[in-house]
Amino acid sequence: MLELKKINTYYGNIQALHDISLSVEEGEIITLIGANGAGKSTTLMSISGIVPPRTGEIIFQGKPIHELPPDKIVALGICQVPEGRHIFPDLTVAENLDMGAFLRRDKQGIKEDLEYIYALFPILAKRRNQPGGNLSGGEQQMLAISRALMARPQLLLLDEPSMGLAPLVTRQIFDIIKKINEEQNTTIFLVEQNANLALKVADRGYVLETGRITMHDDAGALLINEDVKKAYLGI
Ligand code: ATP
Repeated sequence: MLELKKINTYYGNIQALHDISLSVEEGEIITLIGANGAGKSTTLMSISGIVPPRTGEIIFQGKPIHELPPDKIVALGICQVPEGRHIFPDLTVAENLDMGAFLRRDKQGIKEDLEYIYALFPILAKRRNQPGGNLSGGEQQMLAISRALMARPQLLLLDEPSMGLAPLVTRQIFDIIKKINEEQNTTIFLVEQNANLALKVADRGYVLETGRITMHDDAGALLINEDVKKAYLGI
């Protein structure tokens, strides 16, 4: 579904990604794990066109997308939930969700997706008329994921969904990520510092170290890999 071929991404003169190659198959959850500053967010932003690669190719469903602007990439079916959530704090929950559907014209489909989301996250239904800024951190993360789902993406890019959340809330969010993948057949590219959680939910994983992919394998195999355990699982 998605292929990154030797991408190199820079911030000015600083090279953040070095020859990153990876692939995502339709229907899977893949995760990119790595320390702070390894380049996980940059990888997602390269895919979504926010920080496009300087060299290399990104192919989505057979088409090159690395030279497209972010709005065109969203229109093709790739939606990113950025780190730190970035919901609209002054808009209500319902209005935030409407914003996610702004490229769509199928009213019936939008209505169905809204019902699906309110069933997935009953708390959002309860708070639908409250400003997004009044929600707790976990609820804002739910809203950010839901807003992305309203675009009915084929590929959902999630940047650190566990950031700043209590363990119980994080577990809830991860259960829902799995559910979205299974029920909606949404392919998920998950970036996480919490490698243990990410590898438990993912099918496959890549390890990123200072802008380079150093390992990739089935998530189950990475979970029991001695180097991964030492470096990322605190075992
Ligand atoms: P974190 O979990 O801390 O966000 P990360 O793995 O997502 O880490 P990135 O945010 O992708 O890492 O950062 C990769 C590298 O690029 C780091 O060295 C970082 O300092 C640098 N970097 C990130 N954003 C910028 C920017 N806007 N300008 C310059 N350098 C940046």
